Amino acid sequence: MYATELACIGCGRHYRLEALYNCPECGNILDVAYDYPRLKGDYEAGRISAGDFGPFLPLDEQAGVSVAPPPTPLIRAGRLAARLGVKKLLFKCEFLNPTGSFKDRPIAVAVAKAKEFGLGRVIIASSGNAAAAAAAYAGRGGLTGLVLVPEATPPEKIRQTAFYGATVVKVRGPYSNCFSLAKQAATELDYFNLTTTFINPYTVEGDKIIAHEIVRQAGEAPAQVFVPVGAGPLLVGLHKGFKECELLGMAAAVPQMVGVQATGCKPIAQAFSDGMTTVKAVKNPATIAGGICDGLYGYSQDGDYTLATIRRSDGYALAVADEDINEAMRLIAREEGLFVEPSGAVALAGLIQSLKNGQIAPDATSVVMLTGHGLKDMAAISQREVPVIDDDMEQLKRVMM
Ligand SMILES: *Cc1c(COP(=O)(O)O)cnc(C)c1O
Ligand SMILES: [Zn+2]
Repeated sequence: MYATELACIGCGRHYRLEALYNCPECGNILDVAYDYPRLKGDYEAGRISAGDFGPFLPLDEQAGVSVAPPPTPLIRAGRLAARLGVKKLLFKCEFLNPTGSFKDRPIAVAVAKAKEFGLGRVIIASSGNAAAAAAAYAGRGGLTGLVLVPEATPPEKIRQTAFYGATVVKVRGPYSNCFSLAKQAATELDYFNLTTTFINPYTVEGDKIIAHEIVRQAGEAPAQVFVPVGAGPLLVGLHKGFKECELLGMAAAVPQMVGVQATGCKPIAQAFSDGMTTVKAVKNPATIAGGICDGLYGYSQDGDYTLATIRRSDGYALAVADEDINEAMRLIAREEGLFVEPSGAVALAGLIQSLKNGQIAPDATSVVMLTGHGLKDMAAISQREVPVIDDDMEQLKRVMM
């Protein structure tokens, strides 16, 4: 294993790779550190094959836990690119993971760690997608799962999660309420906390692998990557993965990371446009994009970290209106035949707004993250009346008009 320790991004203290959450000394975020010189040496000597992502995970392969999901497709969105007037537009189809969202990535790694640590019970606070992933992987790993979701979570996500066998509990109020209750329950009831903010340092490592896949599938790093942002582990994980690709000589440069939020919940985009380095939490966020409806109340340091990562990549953050998210969902379905939930379309809405703002170079390659499946939130799409007829050609002709 090349992972060496947990390093605090605030005070710089180091800890062993144990079941820790935030820094015991200063409370800031812990990041998994690697022995990159050794990793690079082994890669250059051919001891690590291209496409083997195991060495970039903090997992003890001796334990025989193989959890990395298969690569998801990176497809060319040709019709949309032509319509929007961009040269090369690629969709990373993370909604095609086994549970229907990219949350399989962080959860697979965190569940593998729970098994390595010998912990039999896992808990998570989630707006639905990480809930389903946690329930599925906990079941597969033989662990007991307890899932806390906001009361307003789409029924599809709740049913899916419960069907995998986890105990699901709805918590009144915004996501932040689930977050704080899960944090408390993990300590008091002795559960391993899989929550996919930055609280569990292992989850981001799973998100990181998506960047490795993109570089391998595209043969290079794109100029820009558009990412829907809740707390931001997906964006930060992607950035870390692209950095690793650069370090190992697999990519020439790190892409500009573009964080996209919804106008009804935009603490990071607001701080970016205000030129701030700290994020102000939103107490009662509201957007149709439930997967990114994360006000960061009680853990705004997660937003600070995401904001700093966006700036480090020379990227930017922006917010899109719910109507624009709806329109992006429709375009993805009509032009490319792909069905994503509102949060899954947010990144394309961000690209469209960036085009209007002149923030995209004409010949740049852009990757857009499609994060969640459309079947997970069916109330989000308008219902068109569908006619019912008999086996009768005249009736068919009439309704076709
Ligand atoms: C969780 C989620 C996001 C946001 O990811 P973060 O890592 O929390 O920023 C985006 N889209 C979907 C569909 C999600 O489930
Ligand atoms: Zn610290």
